[in-house]
Amino acid sequence: MDKPIDAGLKERAAKVIPNGMYGHESTRILPDGYPQFFEKGEGAYIWDADGNRYLDFMCAYGPNLLGYRDGRVDAAAARQAALGDTLTGPAPVMVELAETLVSMVDHADWAMFCKNGTDATSMALMAARAQTGRRTILVAEGAYHGAAAWCTPLPSGTVAEDRAWQQRYRYNDIESLEAAVAAAGDDLAAIFASPFKHDVFVDQELPDPAYARRARELCDEKGAMLVIDEVRAGFRTTRDCSWSLVGVKPDLSCWGKSLGNGQPLSALLGADSCRQGAGSIYVTGSFWFAAVPMAAALETMRIIRETDYLEHMVALGDRLRAGLDAAAGEHGFRLRQSGPVQMPLIMFADDPDVRFGYAWGQEMLARGVYVHPWHNMFLCAAMTVADIDFALAAASEAFAAIAARRAEIQPSPALLAMAAAQAGQH
Ligand code: PMP
Repeated sequence: MDKPIDAGLKERAAKVIPNGMYGHESTRILPDGYPQFFEKGEGAYIWDADGNRYLDFMCAYGPNLLGYRDGRVDAAAARQAALGDTLTGPAPVMVELAETLVSMVDHADWAMFCKNGTDATSMALMAARAQTGRRTILVAEGAYHGAAAWCTPLPSGTVAEDRAWQQRYRYNDIESLEAAVAAAGDDLAAIFASPFKHDVFVDQELPDPAYARRARELCDEKGAMLVIDEVRAGFRTTRDCSWSLVGVKPDLSCWGKSLGNGQPLSALLGADSCRQGAGSIYVTGSFWFAAVPMAAALETMRIIRETDYLEHMVALGDRLRAGLDAAAGEHGFRLRQSGPVQMPLIMFADDPDVRFGYAWGQEMLARGVYVHPWHNMFLCAAMTVADIDFALAAASEAFAAIAARRAEIQPSPALLAMAAAQAGQH
């Protein structure tokens, strides 16, 4: 039999790309057998380079909100592409998109556009410091805000000074938040928070409204900026900023991933409380004003406003969660399913080294379902009840398969090494 195409690509990549791949999309930190390269996507499905099809519960780590190659978004992008994309300045669509986002996101009075989530969070950091004239920011322990030197989770290539002027607090823990604010003294520029706790390996947590309100109060007392990092969860919890669900308005919110349903675009949205600071920083990029992603985002926003995409994902997520609990129980396993059902983290109870999660992921993959053993997953609006039932049938077989070889399942050395490297940082 011919060697799989993915294996051949990995071998070639190892010669011309450091480690063959980098970042969280590297399959070195996933169970053996996970394909690295994908040939195409359509709706809720992806095909690897060998032509194997998977129901995709990672949704490109978030950008796929409505389905890959959504016809409505692609048509809007194609119309703009016929006119121009990266030009000497932005196209008119930039203003229309800014107006649209300001009208949809309650706390926002203005918008600035960029490419990646890290651009938006880094810009939030600068805008908050410029607005307040202060240095210190508060970040929750274990929270991911991107891969720039100030926030990348691995220390290699950074210096301690890159992370100077930062205090850590525990998400949902008012006392630790107050202690971090006290430690910042009169130098507090901003409190960063995720819409809900969506860290890797640990159960997800919705925001306690009392914690969210206290974060707002502390920012008001200190004249600091409250920043919500919506990059991962944006438009997957509500059609507004996520903390509108707990009645709290931030000064700044960072968006990316789903904004253009896969087209490269991110944004910093802000209130007038941070307009002057945002207007004073020098931020830009050669591709930040590309018109095609903005046209795609405008159409994505229309679909968000006018369809039940969100309610549909929640209904499917409820079905998935209940079905998985039942299937796991039938085979003697207990799951820890946490977070919003449309952004589930699915781990096994009593599985500290994630060995069962890994083994289950491999069995799911073999049955055409792409799941992640330790990162939250994503449903997309292109999924159907039939897709969820397909996943549940695969899950039942996968639980049975790992139950049969339970005693032989070993932890992954690569995962243990990565966990140790990250733990060494704190
Ligand atoms: N913030 C959060 C919450 C994220 O999940 C991510 C990406 N996973 C980022 C920021 C950074 O986004 P990007 O990878 O597009 O730079």
